[in-house]
Amino acid sequence: MNFVILDLEWNGAYSKKAKKFVNEIIEFGAVKTDEQLNILDSFSMLVTPQIGKKLNHRVAELTHITNEELLDSNNTFTHVLSKFKKFLSDSVLLTWGTSDVLTLMENCRYYLGDEKLPFLSRYCNLQSYCEHMLDHHDKSRQMGLSTCAELLGLSDEGLELHRAFDDALFSLQCFKKLYDNEKFCNYIELANDEFYRKITFKNTIIYDAKNPLIDKKEFYICCDKCGKKAWRKNKWVMKNRSFRAQFRCNKCRRDFEGRITFRLKYDGVHIDRRVVEKEKVEKPSKKKCILNMLPTNNSKTEK
Ligand SMILES: [Zn+2]
Repeated sequence: MNFVILDLEWNGAYSKKAKKFVNEIIEFGAVKTDEQLNILDSFSMLVTPQIGKKLNHRVAELTHITNEELLDSNNTFTHVLSKFKKFLSDSVLLTWGTSDVLTLMENCRYYLGDEKLPFLSRYCNLQSYCEHMLDHHDKSRQMGLSTCAELLGLSDEGLELHRAFDDALFSLQCFKKLYDNEKFCNYIELANDEFYRKITFKNTIIYDAKNPLIDKKEFYICCDKCGKKAWRKNKWVMKNRSFRAQFRCNKCRRDFEGRITFRLKYDGVHIDRRVVEKEKVEKPSKKKCILNMLPTNNSKTEK
């Protein structure tokens, strides 16, 4: 079994034909390894855009790719894709997050009229694998490649990040640090109908507490120190994607804020409960106001 780590660069361009913006792929970069993660081969190709005549400033700035380079490369998407198919062969495809696969699907739909990737047999989202291996629990934010590298103490020196090939190499470096063949195999998905349904499913946050998908019994918070159910002091309020309320743990004699987020994902509702220390909830300015309001006769020492 071989692995191919793919990274793409794309440029948002308005298509008159499709009457919408399309993320047009401008670069493919990939590295192929064996099961021990030894590099076997590499792939790097620019794609001459056919929808957007000019690169967005942001893309040009980020990638340092120039319009001239793209024109000179003289490669259509279809041509580069057919080369990439040969390169991939029957390897497992890996990308950092799903956006590269979704963009590849978007381009295939636009140019070939087929949303599915018939050349793809097995896939793994390297980002979710690394998140799992690093015990990264902040589900509200996905872990970026540079964050992961930082956590692993990897340096990007000598790499030109935001270029497809170097990003693929950098992903491989992170992967190497966290590679466990047995665990990794559980993360490989077959590119079947379910895979496409799952990858195109739009995750949403549930904002309405009365949504029938939410079980009322799920509205509880446990103290993160002793694990006991905490006592709720006031009503739940919805703020910034989470239900929040003030809690007290009678055993530990501490107060904190409890937050619950309900995310509707492909496979059902995911519940994320968090305890936030009181000091972190209250802003210093607010604290000062409260202090100022207290009847005090030692106001001089307050500063
Ligand atoms: Zn406690």
